[in-house]
Amino acid sequence: MTTVEVPHGSRSVILTVSAVVQETADTRSIVFAVPDELRDKFAYKPGQFLTLRIPSEQTGSVARCYSLASSPYTDDAPKVTVKRTSDGYGSNWLCDNIAAGQTLEVLPPAGVFTPKSLDHDFLLFGAGSGITPVISILKSALTQGSGKVVLVYANRDEKSVIFAEELRALAEKYPTRLTVVHWLESVQGLPTADQLAALAVPYESYEAFMCGPGPFMDTVHQALNTVGMPRARVHAEVFNSLSGDPFADQAPVEISDEEAADAATVEVELDGVVHELSWPRKQTLVDIMLAKGLDVPYSCQEGECGSCACTVLEGKVEMENCDVLDPEDIEAGYILGCQARPVTDHLKIEF
Ligand SMILES: Cc1cc2nc3c(=O)[nH]c(=O)nc-3n(C[C@H](O)[C@H](O)[C@H](O)COP(=O)(O)OP(=O)(O)OC[C@H]3O[C@@H](n4cnc5c(N)ncnc54)[C@H](O)[C@@H]3O)c2cc1C
Repeated sequence: MTTVEVPHGSRSVILTVSAVVQETADTRSIVFAVPDELRDKFAYKPGQFLTLRIPSEQTGSVARCYSLASSPYTDDAPKVTVKRTSDGYGSNWLCDNIAAGQTLEVLPPAGVFTPKSLDHDFLLFGAGSGITPVISILKSALTQGSGKVVLVYANRDEKSVIFAEELRALAEKYPTRLTVVHWLESVQGLPTADQLAALAVPYESYEAFMCGPGPFMDTVHQALNTVGMPRARVHAEVFNSLSGDPFADQAPVEISDEEAADAATVEVELDGVVHELSWPRKQTLVDIMLAKGLDVPYSCQEGECGSCACTVLEGKVEMENCDVLDPEDIEAGYILGCQARPVTDHLKIEF
């Protein structure tokens, strides 16, 4: 029995697991009870994720992100869905050890894989466990929006389809608005870019969201490129494991007089308010915003989760690790605040 009572940092909280649902042979959902006093902190947007602290005898703990498969509009409680990764530590630990009534240390919802408006028409692609943020967007768009939703959902075989029953019921409830296309590798083989492009042609004007293994997402990107969908309407969520500890509080950055003298300046817009900050060249954007007490969105601080993605409107930054961003994202001005250091003397950035 695992119980955690005291959070390790000031940003995390301890939540009780209210239910564990066996979804498929290798996938389980974990539903959390959120007490009233934490409701605001745990309010989330469709497509966002939670970060869980998983105990480890070797390292004390590991941190793993899991997308919320629930919708804030249709589900009473937040739910993440964990698929066992072969030889993976965290996913197997969660599937083997977590039961209703136990507690887990959790960081509040984060992430930018979320539609700006739910009133669009959506073309969604999910593969395997990549269905989790996608189904949250799907359910939210169907209840809150008025557009059409097309889901292309790829799996190894019928038995590995997560949420099959829920999707069947939704397709029945929204016969004119929801189309679900199941793609089974056991039946059709792996989808090719040409096959997905042929499927996507009628939906070229839709807003696309995709999540799944790297090769699947490469294929979808290629397909959407072929049908001429502009990059600005294509959104992708990359699943990977964190290596650092986002639960630990970090000491505020210390800035020497020398560093302060050679600082750039940045006008950064957060929640519609513009802040003018001095930006010492060795500090990251997240560091300087935290030092000013701003509520900057961030989680892993390793450039791996994408929570701190923002847009450079003027000026230039350099980044150490930005693998979660596609070259097209970077071209469009997207940066990761936790990795960005200033190159030019003046910058404008928008969250
Ligand atoms: C934003 C976000 C959302 C996510 N949402 C979900 C979700 O909804 N559902 C879900 O199931 N997953 C999700 N993930 C992925 C999840 O966070 C984990 O990455 C996943 O569960 C695997 O973690 P693990 O600890 O089991 O595997 P790990 O222990 O991290 O191992 C992963 C793989 O790396 C290999 N490996 C491990 N250590 C080494 C090493 N030293 N050298 C070489 N290879 C190694 C393992 O063999 C394994 O194949 C998400 C990730 C992100 C960033």
